[in-house]
Amino acid sequence: MTGKMKAEKIRAGVTGWPVAQSRSPLVHGYWLKKHGIDGSYEKIPVSPEEAEAFYGNLASSGLTGCNVTIPHKETAAAACDVLDDAAQKMGAANTLWLDETGRLCGANTDGLGFLGNLDQMAPGWDDKRDCAIVLGAGGAARAIVWALCSRKFTEVHIFNRTAEKASRIADQFGSTVHAHLWDKLGTFLGKADLLVNTTSLGMAGKARLEIDLGDLPKEALVTDIVYVPLMTDLLKQAAERGNRTVDGLGMLLHQAVPGFEKWFGVRPQVDDDLRRLVLQDLEQVP
Ligand code: NAP
Repeated sequence: MTGKMKAEKIRAGVTGWPVAQSRSPLVHGYWLKKHGIDGSYEKIPVSPEEAEAFYGNLASSGLTGCNVTIPHKETAAAACDVLDDAAQKMGAANTLWLDETGRLCGANTDGLGFLGNLDQMAPGWDDKRDCAIVLGAGGAARAIVWALCSRKFTEVHIFNRTAEKASRIADQFGSTVHAHLWDKLGTFLGKADLLVNTTSLGMAGKARLEIDLGDLPKEALVTDIVYVPLMTDLLKQAAERGNRTVDGLGMLLHQAVPGFEKWFGVRPQVDDDLRRLVLQDLEQVP
């Protein structure tokens, strides 16, 4: 919360261009109702032309804070007076709030969402943290590499079709993070404690993720951040050979927790009813 005693209703929302597809209102609406909070969480379209001025003058919008989605995460970060470590490293913010003194603060909560999901669904998953394998080097991969570094993984290996993108992330995060092309995956799979897919491969409507898990240790945890379908081919394949698996829906839900807490003053839980609600909504999407 801002710390100000407000008589009026607290307003937050998701900003971006477009925002019609966002499921954030469903998630925050569920928590507002559950906690009996008289607040609102709206869809707020912000065009590219107005983005800089909008985030630079967030206070004048009457919002306590907001989420930021594509394509404004970088613009939002640049407008902030204060950024958390993840947002600084990514140069992108997805959660904004005004503090007691009116400073605009920004966080990037995707990495926290990734960690929150695994902590909830696979307790103890990071007891052994020698080697993590990350497939993909897009925006989500960067957040996940940040998350794995924050949990002090000894080695993080990124595999990506486009070498430069993987190298850029590795260069940024230091000597524990290494970049490779896909054809080297077999060399590293045998020592993985964690395998995470952050590519869009395997998502409904996209190409399949072709991968041979033959060398992967049975103790390794396998997770996919693609959540449509919920049970991706990668997760099915991993579960069939006895690996523990975690789907990607929880990342989406957990990344919303810090924002709700900042704006509305209650730390919400990701529970089964919320998962069910969002799953129902996803099934309505062709
Ligand atoms: P992005 O920045 O566009 O990155 C896409 C990644 O997928 C890149 O590494 C790209 O490789 C790779 N890729 C795409 N098509 C490929 C192909 N045909 N062959 C090989 N590699 C391919 O996207 P993002 O924002 O990181 O998101 C990635 C996925 O994660 C999406 O499916 C998104 O929905 C999901 N996601 C889930 C959550 C969650 O909360 N669960 C959060 C964020 C994102 P190149 O670099 O070579 O192009």
